[in-house]
Amino acid sequence: MAIDPNFEENRELEGREHGVDVWGPTEPPEQLGIRGVHVAVDFDICLSDGACLEDCPVDVFEWVDTPGHPESEIKANPTHEEQCIDCMLCVDVCPVDAIDVDPGRTDRF
Ligand code: SF4
Repeated sequence: MAIDPNFEENRELEGREHGVDVWGPTEPPEQLGIRGVHVAVDFDICLSDGACLEDCPVDVFEWVDTPGHPESEIKANPTHEEQCIDCMLCVDVCPVDAIDVDPGRTDRF
């Protein structure tokens, strides 16, 4: 299952963590929701492949620890999403379609 590109309509904004918005539902440590706005990562799909960290030309992503999550114990957090240049490389390389980038989703910055 890929990230829902309409998460802003379909999910509730629960707060912020690691510098980005958190879209629920969440029930840590097993369920962590979607993180970010312009660059959004579904933490419940991310399996810490790392291609997005390696390929992003402007270093948007940072690892964060997520001990106890069933998919992986680290996640690619879009910490510096305001730097995104919309190249879509991360979207293309993610093996589980956990990332959605939408140039129109910038209203929170
Ligand atoms: S779209 Fe490009 S610049 Fe933006 S986060 Fe993904 S890889 Fe980085």
